[in-house]
Amino acid sequence: MSPSPNGAYGPVLDGLPRVLRPTVADYLELHRHPELSGAEERTAARHAERLRDAGLEVTTGVGGHGVVGVLRNGPGPVVLLRAELDALPVREATGLPYASEAVAPDAEGRPVPVMHACGHDLHLACLGGTAALLAGATGHWSGTLVTVGQPAEETLGGARAMLEDGLYTRFPVPDVVLAQHTAPLPAGMVAHAHGPVLAGSRLLEVVVHGSGGHAASPHLAVDPVVAAAAIVLRLQTVVSRETSPAEQVVLTVGSLHAGTRGNVVPASATLEVSVRAFGDEALERVTAAVHRIVTAECAASGCPRDPSVRVLARSQPTLADPGTVAAVRRAHEETLGAGRVAVWPASTATEDFPLYGPAGAALHGVGEVRTAYWMLGCVGPEQWARTPGAGAAAKMAALPPNHSPAFRPDPRLSVPAGVTALTAAALTQLAGPAR
Ligand SMILES: [Zn+2]
Ligand SMILES: [Zn+2]
Repeated sequence: MSPSPNGAYGPVLDGLPRVLRPTVADYLELHRHPELSGAEERTAARHAERLRDAGLEVTTGVGGHGVVGVLRNGPGPVVLLRAELDALPVREATGLPYASEAVAPDAEGRPVPVMHACGHDLHLACLGGTAALLAGATGHWSGTLVTVGQPAEETLGGARAMLEDGLYTRFPVPDVVLAQHTAPLPAGMVAHAHGPVLAGSRLLEVVVHGSGGHAASPHLAVDPVVAAAAIVLRLQTVVSRETSPAEQVVLTVGSLHAGTRGNVVPASATLEVSVRAFGDEALERVTAAVHRIVTAECAASGCPRDPSVRVLARSQPTLADPGTVAAVRRAHEETLGAGRVAVWPASTATEDFPLYGPAGAALHGVGEVRTAYWMLGCVGPEQWARTPGAGAAAKMAALPPNHSPAFRPDPRLSVPAGVTALTAAALTQLAGPAR
């Protein structure tokens, strides 16, 4: 018998062909039927069924539609693997035969198109495949496997809701939490960061209070549209004039709403501002600058009262544990090949994943919880070849990113790589012969 190409991970990973077909089928089905954050009922039920089929003990309805699977397999560490359930209000434009045509009511009850434009369907299918692979090879590892299908990641509320609903009290407390996320890298690859993986964020809502009136007599009103426009421009100086060029900070005004028609001066304007940085100090500093500028611009416009500034959502930077990341990276080099393991430069995307680590552990009175998080390539070879650009960096800049209507993971290569990466990572942390 020839030795397994998967080395020490062979006894478990050699079972991959057995789980690939159901995992790809699961992916296609999840992709075709996406659900918005907080409404992941069907997705959760499907995932729960898959875990039950694999032999895990399954609990549903944790912190909303959250799904927790547990597989106790003797003494050893508790390893938690996390994937997300939710999709985005995006109209899919991939033209794929399994493209989503789903429409669902948004928070205000308006029908919106829905698409898995962040790859959460791929993460979830790979989690199901990994659970099946580990459950089918219990003679080759020991410890406890916990799987989490998390709702409402895109609205940054799901991890907190699951923790508050007893994730770390009703279920085995993890020693380590692992997750992967799709990125526009070639399918079959993974990428690890050498420092922060993702930024922390604050989502701020700003309401500018003017006083409404007739468009014909603006001198009798205080126009919040003009104040809001000045605010949008002045906010651009927070990064360009107040932040060190050596520091990575992003400030984006992602929405601005005012008025109903052209012949009325509205009474108020509402902006949403997304702030991203790699440390709490920077996030607090930029948030304070937004307060200062918004208040001063409203005073300059003669607004009858101060604006309101509310934090709608917040997340922390994803700073994985260096030792755990190093072990997982070595396992990925061994199982995928060193040429398929790239370096990930810190991204200003954000996640609620850090709550599973030290911050969440402290909140819920449990001991140290380590984390590791890596990016999973998902661009198929044809799409990569078709994408203009001389080198990998130019191609990556030209590819449709996560959240784009044209985001289209290729499951033929990214499903096997995703299951391999997650399974090998789990085995580095579990006890037993495969270690
Ligand atoms: Zn996303
Ligand atoms: Zn995502």
